[in-house]
Amino acid sequence: MQLYKEQKLKITNSLTGTKEDFKPINEGHVGMYVCGPTVYSNVHLGNCRTFMSFDMIFRYLRHLDYKVRYVRNITDAGHLVGDADEGEDKIAKKAKLEKIEPMEVVQRYTVDFHKILEQFNFLPPSIEPTATGHIIEQLEIIKEILEKGYAYEVNGSVYFDVKKFNERYEYGKLSGRKLEDMITNTRELTAQSDKRSPQDFALWKKAEPQHIMRWPSPWGDGFPGWHLECTAMSTKYLGETFDIHGGGMDLKFPHHECEIAQAEASNGHSPVNYWLHANMLTMNGKKMAKSTGNNILPGEIFSGENTILSKPFTPSVVRFFIMQAHYTSILDLGNEALLASEKGYHRLMDAIDNLKDLETGRKTDFKITVWRQKCYDAMNDDFNTPILIANLFEAVKHINLIKEGKESLTLSDKELLQQTINDFVFEVLGLEHKSENGQDSDKLQGVVELLIQLRNEARSNKDFATSDKIRDQLLAMGIQLKDGKEGTTFSVS
Ligand code: AMP
Ligand code: ZN
Repeated sequence: MQLYKEQKLKITNSLTGTKEDFKPINEGHVGMYVCGPTVYSNVHLGNCRTFMSFDMIFRYLRHLDYKVRYVRNITDAGHLVGDADEGEDKIAKKAKLEKIEPMEVVQRYTVDFHKILEQFNFLPPSIEPTATGHIIEQLEIIKEILEKGYAYEVNGSVYFDVKKFNERYEYGKLSGRKLEDMITNTRELTAQSDKRSPQDFALWKKAEPQHIMRWPSPWGDGFPGWHLECTAMSTKYLGETFDIHGGGMDLKFPHHECEIAQAEASNGHSPVNYWLHANMLTMNGKKMAKSTGNNILPGEIFSGENTILSKPFTPSVVRFFIMQAHYTSILDLGNEALLASEKGYHRLMDAIDNLKDLETGRKTDFKITVWRQKCYDAMNDDFNTPILIANLFEAVKHINLIKEGKESLTLSDKELLQQTINDFVFEVLGLEHKSENGQDSDKLQGVVELLIQLRNEARSNKDFATSDKIRDQLLAMGIQLKDGKEGTTFSVS
């Protein structure tokens, strides 16, 4: 029997603000769309936290035997600086700055995004579509919205008419805002704006002559508005109404509000049954963001090359740290918190190692089936990973007691315990067991230490050609030597 039939999942729906029973549209199948990155710079750990929350959700849905189609897009056009409808395209701006093609910017940061996600052991989504690959679909939606009277064209741009839409539908229902309040609280339009009202948003923007990212349309050369790509790609791959739409909390308004409006205006009904929003990663109490400089890159954490943390941390430790908070809670990154997570992670992995070698007995002092259900209950309760981890440590406590001979465990219970731990630790939380290839890393450590010793000998013989060769060739392999007061250490990227 499929696991989802016995494990009843509840999820917090941002649209209703309540925890609801999860019922997919087609039994046994889940369609999930998550807004992906705008690929104009390296992803910081904040971005990764949101994507990791949805990776965990994808993993748990699969674990429950749902067939999941998970679509996560790449925004490679249309996202303007400042998220409003004015200013340059973020990617085109970067391309100009670096004197390269916009598509080179896109390629560079898409590759970086994939590399980081692989280091964090993410599962790839089922489809990863791009905005530029779906211009035709976006144009079709604009035509439909225009036909239905919820948009207007001015000087080669097309805007969504929020007031008109609000007469029949409800603009603001996801973010809990009222259009009347928005109107009172916004400033007047500037003289050069083509919009009828400040709440209106662009579906298509006319490209000025200097704008490099441009496509032909019935209204002249231009580019799509940022919100439109997600409506086009989610509809194309998941249908007019699908199960789950996710993204970071900061996308609720205006991005997701506008997605709802576009879908309702073009096909008359609500696009998404469950809206899920992941909360922010902060650093020093402030939101981690590209624009403010208050951020850290995953690579800087793995290599230790940063001024914030006292040592390098592995991707699994960082993943464990993120999973220790519920995805809807704010999480603050700091050295102490990471050190504590590292300790916890090693305690968990040590227990997994110890469990393999535990001798079994005639009785079990620990109710494995009850404990196992508690793990499911935690995940069924809106993917509560901190409670799941607390339950995993409950098992760690018993494993250690059994090892000390103070409790015992039967063979079949040992197998069930192993299976459950593997399911939750590796399959659902997506952690990796570093010491599984511990022998290899011990060997690597030995070889690099030998090379450091040879390099030191070469340096004391003033044979700098050899010492530099060792350092440079190790660097080319991703192993960086660092000379400090206490000798030479190394990091692997
Ligand atoms: P962007 O590339 O700016 O479109 O952002 C990609 C994703 O990262 C979006 O879902 C954002 O909501 C999310 N995000 C941005 N900053 C943070 C943060 N500090 N913590 C968690 N998620 C974030
Ligand atoms: Zn989106």
